[in-house]
Amino acid sequence: MDNERASALPPHVLIFPLPIQGPVKCMLKLAELFCINGLKVTFLNSQHIQRCLSSCTNIESYFQRYPNFRFETVPDGLPEDNPRTASEFFEMLDSMKAVSVPLIHEMVTSGPNSENPITCIVADGVFCFAVDIAKQIGVPLLYFDTISPCGLWTYLCLPKLIEAAEFPFKGDNLDEIVVNAPGKEGFLRRRDLPGFYRTKDLNDPFIKSVLKENMNLSLAQGLILNTFEELDASILSEMSTVCPKIYAVGPLHTHVKTRLGTGTTSNSILKEDRSCVPWLDMQPLKSVLFVSIGSLAVMTKEQFMEIWYGLVNSGTRFLWVRRPGSIAGLEKEFEISMDFSQATKERGYIVTWAPQEEVLAHPAIGGFLTHSGWNSTLESIVEGKPMICWPHNVDQQVNSRYVGEFWKLGLDMKDTCDRVTVERMIKELMESKKEEFLEKADRIAKMAKASVSKGGCSYKNLDQLIQDIKSMKF
Ligand code: UDP
Repeated sequence: MDNERASALPPHVLIFPLPIQGPVKCMLKLAELFCINGLKVTFLNSQHIQRCLSSCTNIESYFQRYPNFRFETVPDGLPEDNPRTASEFFEMLDSMKAVSVPLIHEMVTSGPNSENPITCIVADGVFCFAVDIAKQIGVPLLYFDTISPCGLWTYLCLPKLIEAAEFPFKGDNLDEIVVNAPGKEGFLRRRDLPGFYRTKDLNDPFIKSVLKENMNLSLAQGLILNTFEELDASILSEMSTVCPKIYAVGPLHTHVKTRLGTGTTSNSILKEDRSCVPWLDMQPLKSVLFVSIGSLAVMTKEQFMEIWYGLVNSGTRFLWVRRPGSIAGLEKEFEISMDFSQATKERGYIVTWAPQEEVLAHPAIGGFLTHSGWNSTLESIVEGKPMICWPHNVDQQVNSRYVGEFWKLGLDMKDTCDRVTVERMIKELMESKKEEFLEKADRIAKMAKASVSKGGCSYKNLDQLIQDIKSMKF
């Protein structure tokens, strides 16, 4: 294609998310923001994710809203009945490397992409192979790490921990302060680092993957983060010493709403049960605790019972997401639900998957018992809802420390799961310290909304990102 024709075409971004709920959702929001601002977007999903998305959401609405948006798909190489759970994460990555990557190499230069060539790639930070694809077609690569900045910063500090011979940690005292840790001195304990840092093995696949991801980050032209500067100023400033070009453009779900002036397209890969919304409509203001552990975390039956007892004994109203497969070894729902049916009938509601953003925005919700996934944390922050954090892995342990000790937006239940603690924390969040937490949460929620409004930091950062993509000035 001659240069004149190429320069008349709109900039064309290929977005490639990790095929799991959180990253897909986040990147779809970014895709919408790009389309609103005149960029052409090809959104690359695994065939499995595309099937889930098509059956759970109205994907036609993307094409109606955005003529400059389209999906492409590649197989992830796994059989359709593979559960694709968090514990099989590396199986999925390996399979994608073997099956998807050669197809992506072919796809980026063929079909519609030869007519309107891709001019920039935005890929999930775990996709190290994206560097080669960007090189192959000679375009800039931006990594988008959809985990929290505080979580990512603990990844970036891992080489320092190893060099100082602090990691792998000696002994088993999880309360020991991490010396070569990021952030405020004495703030992070070993238990606050990602769960897989508890290994004694430097060859642990997660550790190796983090080290590789770190190295690759510097090969990209920039890093996109789903946060806002007012929330993460100190981390972003430290991180800029390693990644000079950072675009903090979040919270993305709110950012899209601001720019569109209306609600966005649902992009859930699980079927939402909206019957909880009319139920919430009947509950008093800020009286309901929302309970959810996201799309991947799994609890044992014992943990489930402890949370259940704590919840029922606290006497609080609750809306509980009980995702199929989220309780290990539970074959049938009715195995455990009988004893508690009375309490549920009186003051609870259970769904298999909720329209979470809408639920958190509902005036009846007063708090959130969460696994501290970054999307859930941000969604709660935006709606000014205090949290009880029960983190599982990846960045969640770091997020819950920040929620409890730094932002003071809730309580960190990390590594504990007994009915007495659950009951005590619920009562603290929903009763004795309710006003204190709500006041703080409200203040930060206002900052989040201001950041994505005209003149706010995230608003300006997104404009800059789009400008840079248009002019290719990275
Ligand atoms: N989510 C939802 N309905 C639910 C539970 C979760 O729509 O019942 C969404 C939630 O809004 C969030 C995402 O699933 O955007 C979960 O992402 P997060 O990063 O919090 O956790 P992960 O699932 O990746 O562990």
